[in-house]
Order: sequence, then structure tokens, then C-alpha cells
Amino acid sequence: MQVFKFGGASVKDSEAVINVAKVLKQVHKDSKLCVVISAMGKTTNALEELTNAFFYHTGNPSLILDGIKKFHFDICNQLFSSTTHPIYQDLENTFVELHWSIEDEPTHSYDFEYDQIISIGEVLSTKIVSAYLNSVNVNNTWIDARGLIQTDNTYRDAIVDFDLTESLLKKSVTPLFNQTPIIITQGFIGGTSENFTTTLGREGSDYTASIIAYCLNAESVTIWKDVPGVLNADPKWFNHTKKIDELSYQDAIELTYYGATVIHPKTIKPLQNKNIPLYVKSFLKPEQEGTVIKNSETRLNIPSYIFKINQVLISFQPKDFSFIAENNLSYIFEVFSKHHVKINLMQLSAISFSVCCDHDQTKINSLVEELQTAFKVLYNTNLELMTVRYYTVDTISSLTKNKIILLEQRSRFTVQMVLQNEVGL
Ligand code: ASP
Repeated sequence: MQVFKFGGASVKDSEAVINVAKVLKQVHKDSKLCVVISAMGKTTNALEELTNAFFYHTGNPSLILDGIKKFHFDICNQLFSSTTHPIYQDLENTFVELHWSIEDEPTHSYDFEYDQIISIGEVLSTKIVSAYLNSVNVNNTWIDARGLIQTDNTYRDAIVDFDLTESLLKKSVTPLFNQTPIIITQGFIGGTSENFTTTLGREGSDYTASIIAYCLNAESVTIWKDVPGVLNADPKWFNHTKKIDELSYQDAIELTYYGATVIHPKTIKPLQNKNIPLYVKSFLKPEQEGTVIKNSETRLNIPSYIFKINQVLISFQPKDFSFIAENNLSYIFEVFSKHHVKINLMQLSAISFSVCCDHDQTKINSLVEELQTAFKVLYNTNLELMTVRYYTVDTISSLTKNKIILLEQRSRFTVQMVLQNEVGL
């Protein structure tokens, strides 16, 4: 059995969906295949906007919902020759469900409401792609991941119960393969034991592919992207990028942990545990080799660059001028975890603890507010975090030109720097 994952860009419009069928016809032979699909294009962002309009009254929920509806029905109109195709009724029913969830005032937490609304993006996309594939003789069966990927109730960042998920997947998916060669399901979403919907964190569809591969002992996972494979830097920020042909699990874990966005950071570990290779390939040129991530001792022979903007550097100093000791640290970490703020880099000195994280205004404000009672809190915004794995001295000096290094950490293989632009000082 193999697992494929198609992200939002690969199903962003009708042409892209037609291309998915082309890729499957070209590369899928006889083996059993589970295809994990994300929401179409920027639908998750639009649904986030809808959630905010519903919860915080930041806009008109009905107008936003109409836009999302139109986007999906327009794609269907280009894919199906008649509006009598059952997909139209199926989508209508899904939109009625979505409408219901925003009809009354919110009664649960923001994170709970967010997951119930956001998850619909994946439900819509998989229904459309599955129906289209069946209409062009790529026979498949659609299944609902919410009843299979079992999680706890940490809404927006749910933790997967691997044992339960494995037994559910084996019970329901394995027999389905006797009737159908391809199974289509949603990435990113799961469900609790009380049947509420959860999500696995933004861009979490890669992780879904990895969970399914782990639970069903797949031969391989392939993530289909609009780039030729894993590159040594994001082409959005760097001009001369190189494709990496082979990457060890260890390097892939490090690079994604530091913020390489090509694969979701949680994807690699389950695959490494079962020694399942992960291929990253182009859905535009499926015949090309791409990158393979596997068990390997080979270290990368070129530097890899990871660049994160919109960073904040926060320093905590105990108000009573005592040292930063274990008790202070454990309290600080507890508050970070409570506010779901992820730490990208940290450094400790005698009387101060500094942390670099993504500048999510709402989360950072509530975190700082809580910690301000015990600590003097200082912070700098608008910063960049640069990570270079397998760095050389030359790479560092070229990257820090016209920048002020506010904090730097070097290990044998990796250097990380929190940078501020000199301009504007
Ligand atoms: N649709 C979700 C997102 O945009 C999950 C994914 O695409 O992986 O974050």
C-alpha cells in the first residue's frame, strides 16, 4: 500500500484537479493507494476569516460563506457536465451543515468552533476530487477521516491516539481495498471520542499521510508539490536554490523543526519509526525523481537555509533580581504551553531568559500579560530568524550583511541568528 498527499496548491482550481487525475493515471499502477487531500487553494484561510467573523464579529459571515460556496461550485461547473451530478446535492448538504454551525452565537471556545468550521474545507475538496476521479474512471472510495484519525480534545493542535487510530484504520480501510484500488480521505482533520472534529495544526495534511502510512505499514509516502522536491532554501527568499536528491530522516527532522515549510514537522517521526521512505515530487512533472527522505547516514553536502520573518524576541528578568533558576524556568515554560506559544530559540543568562517566537499578537499579548506579574518583560518585534544547517563562515557573513545580530547560537552543524534590519534604527 502507498500513501499520496496532494496539498491545497495541487487542487486550487479545476485545471489542478484535472492534473491530479493525470498524475494518478500516469504513476499509479496496481497497488493499493490511499490519497490524502487538503482544502482547495486558500480555502482554509477563507474559513479562518469566516470563523473570526462568526466569533469576533470581524466581518459578515454570510458574505464570506457565499464566497466560499461560489468558489467550490464554480470548480464543479468546470469539472462536471451537468448540475444533476450527485456531487451538487452532496456539497449543498455540507454547506447546510456549515451554515448551521454559524447560525447562532458561539457557545464553545474559539478553538473548538474553529475546528468545526475549518475542517469543512477538506470535506468539500475530497468530495469534489473523489467525484471527479470516479467520473474519469479513476475508481475510488471516499472516506471520512473524522471517524478514523482519533485524537484528544486539544482543538487546533490535537494529539493523535496512534493505537486507536491504527485499529480503526485497519478495521475499516483494509477491507475497503478489496473493493476499490484507491481510497480518498481528508488531511489535517480528526475526531474525538465524543465525535467532535479536531485539527492537527495548520499544514497538517502531511502529518495525516504519515499517520496513515504508519498505521497501515505503507511501502512509501509521496507528497506532491509545486516544487521539484526539497530545496536547500525557500525560493520565496533565495535566488539560487538547489534541489536535494536524498535526505536522511535526521536532517529532514532538523530542517522542518527549524521552520522549513516544505513538510509539516510532525510528518517524519512516524515514518522514521517504521522505516517508510518519503518522496517529495512535483505534480507538474511527476516523471521526475524529486527528493527521497529515508534512513541514511549521508549528511547534506550543501548548506540549507531557513528564514522566518515576523519574529519577536522576549526577555524575562525576575523582578526581585534573583537568578533565573529552575523554578522560574519551569513556571515560564508552563505559561508558554498554556498559551500555545511555540519557542523557536532560547538563551539563558544569569538574570535573564530570552526567547524567540513567531509574533502571533493575540497569543503573545496574553502570555506577556501573565508573565509580567513575576518578571520584567522586554521585547523586540519585527525580527528575522535565520537558521543555517551545515553552515560555513562565508555563508554567515553574507547573510548578516546590513543586519544586527541580536542573538546567536552555534552548534557543530547548525547556526541560528535573530536578526534586525539596520535600516530604520
Ligand atoms: N488545509 C490546511 C491548511 O491550509 C491543512 C493543509 O493544507 O495541510 O493549513
